[in-house]
This record gives sequence, structure tokens and C-alpha cells, in this order.
Amino acid sequence: MEDSIFMKIVRKEIPAQILYEDDETLAFLDTEPNATGHTLVIPKSPAHDIFDIDEKSWLAVMKTVRMLAPHIRDTTGAAGMTLAMNNGIASDQTVFHPHVHLIPRHHDDEFGYELWKHHPYQEGEMAKLATRIRTNLS
Ligand code: AMP
Repeated sequence: MEDSIFMKIVRKEIPAQILYEDDETLAFLDTEPNATGHTLVIPKSPAHDIFDIDEKSWLAVMKTVRMLAPHIRDTTGAAGMTLAMNNGIASDQTVFHPHVHLIPRHHDDEFGYELWKHHPYQEGEMAKLATRIRTNLS
């Protein structure tokens, strides 16, 4: 698998402001933060995104996110936090190693989630789509 810059951080080959580390995960500050305290949590094992990460690594990432979130919120004085993960070029992923963004939020900040466009379903389309996805699950 092609190496990513985040695997270099895992191996300590390049510097990072590491906040937390355990056997399976690493958390460090994003160098181009959307807000002060913007943090990335990654698995230490190589993968690209949500589509190929193994379940054990993913659950470990989620555990670290859950543990860190209130500490980052309280340290930065944030009022809330947005979690985000881009998967694939179409979703604007730029580093192809799984990473969850923890973005501290403040009242009336300009992060802009509320500006994301909504794309309403046509009549009947939503139920049909849900059926197709459920069918693909089985
Ligand atoms: P994404 O667009 O979801 O792939 O996000 C990649 C994130 O990684 C961006 O927010 C970058 O600012 C961040 N980033 C890239 N290189 C580094 C690095 N060496 N240390 C910390 N954050 C980084």
C-alpha cells in the first residue's frame, strides 16, 4: 500500500503535535485548522478510508474520538464539536489514510455546516432508495 504522510507521523518520521497515542490510534493537531484545537484521530494500521479500514481499527478510532472530544472542547472553551470524515476524492479527501476531524465549534462561528445544500427527494424516491440499500445489506 502506498505510504501516506500520516503513516510518517505514526512512525515519528515527521513532527506533529501529538495529543494522545495508544496501541491502535494516534491523535494530533491539524496544521491547517478550521478552528483552534482542530484535531485528527487516525488508526495506526495502514488503510485509505472508511471503505477499507478493518472494524477493529475503526472501533479503536471511535473510542479515541469519544475519549478526546470533551477534553478538546473544555480546553478550547468550545460550545460544541463537529465530527467529519472525508472518504474518496469526490468528498475532498486529500490525505488517503483514514482520519476523523474533531472541529471545535462556537456559537455563531463561520464553519458553515448550516450552509450545506439540501437535495430533497422526489415523491416516493426516498422509500425506493431505502429498499435498495436494505436489499444490498443482505
Ligand atoms: P482531508 O481533506 O479530510 O483529507 O483532510 C486532511 C487534513 O490533514 C487537512 O485538514 C490538513 O490540514 C491535514 N494535514 C495534512 N498534513 C498534515 C500534517 N503533516 N500534520 C497535521 N495535519 C495535516
